[in-house]
Amino acid sequence: MPPAVSERPTRIRVQLEHLTFNLRNIRSHVGVPVMAIVKANAYGHGLVPVALHLQAQGVEQLGVAFVEEGIALRQAGVTVPILVLGGIFGPQVAQFITHDLEITVSSLDKLRQAEAAAEAVGRKAVIHLKVDTGMERIGVHSYSAKPFIEAALASRWCVVKGIYSHLACADDPASPMTLLQLERFLEACAHIERAGAPMPIRHLANSGGVLHFPQTHLDMVRPGIVLYGVLPDPAARATVAVKPALSLVSKVVYFKVVKAGNPVSYGATWAPSHDTRVVTVPIGYGDGFPRALSSRGDVLVRGQRYPIVGRICMDQFMVDIDHDSAWNEDEVVLIGAQGGERITAEAVAQAAGTIPYEILVGLNDRIPREYVSVEP
Ligand SMILES: *Cc1c(COP(=O)(O)O)cnc(C)c1O
Repeated sequence: MPPAVSERPTRIRVQLEHLTFNLRNIRSHVGVPVMAIVKANAYGHGLVPVALHLQAQGVEQLGVAFVEEGIALRQAGVTVPILVLGGIFGPQVAQFITHDLEITVSSLDKLRQAEAAAEAVGRKAVIHLKVDTGMERIGVHSYSAKPFIEAALASRWCVVKGIYSHLACADDPASPMTLLQLERFLEACAHIERAGAPMPIRHLANSGGVLHFPQTHLDMVRPGIVLYGVLPDPAARATVAVKPALSLVSKVVYFKVVKAGNPVSYGATWAPSHDTRVVTVPIGYGDGFPRALSSRGDVLVRGQRYPIVGRICMDQFMVDIDHDSAWNEDEVVLIGAQGGERITAEAVAQAAGTIPYEILVGLNDRIPREYVSVEP
């Protein structure tokens, strides 16, 4: 169901054909099936519209963090296999099975919980075994995975569809950690071979693995951020051509002249050295636009780059356009392109002292999202 139409001048624009482009290029780069990661509202792009689009593009599998996200996708008519990547929580396990969601099993105890829930529902649980190869988050340590793997293979109520691990340092092409993790992962997978069982789908590569470590591509890859056209880290190499799918835009809603020396916004932290023109933009940290960009970030107006001045408020912030002109309702680009200029999510993250992931997933539901197929 389409959301109620909002006339709010602030909006997120998602270019679906850029997702198509990115998925296609990732696919041809890795040559194996793709599990598209759509957790956290598809990295701020909108969970259901993105998942439906990727499904229409023939994506093999989706990954989410929490069972609630998986249920939302099933209720929206998504039919491709969905793996819930997060650790399971006892009382929720039956929901995985009733909604046809694949379970991450990260310990012997969790395996027993999945079995018990499957037996109670009367339907087998489809599981992926989680091996910890160095992230120390969830998963059975690779060096003690043998009894865990054997118990899962012997389970009457669980079908082992996959086995996976998560890379801690793949964003950095120079880190030796990734190949060490790969080696540990393959040692764990060898227990399956030795047990004479068919090898389940082995998956290891996040965006960093996709970009930098072909050895980690194995049977399936799990790209998140690169699928949205954003690189995971300043050290990352763009070995796959991708286009950013999200823009964040607003409009000028107020124009005035601020006299030299008169401070702007809360705390009076910034004042112009000469009389200057200042416009107000109706978006703030209440939308997830980081307050850390106060007097640090830039925006685009009329194809020019201008600084955010003074503190970002909950719902508004101010921009110094100096002697230039701007009119009410002029478009303001916070992330995206205008004229020949571009502000990337990576640059916004850098200015805010964080990573692009946090910028994208922080953009909340107060901002309406629109899905377009051509640049407006
Ligand atoms: C979030 C996540 C991914 C995707 O990570 P990116 O760095 O965005 O590619 C892959 N696998 C797991 C287990 C995750 O939690």
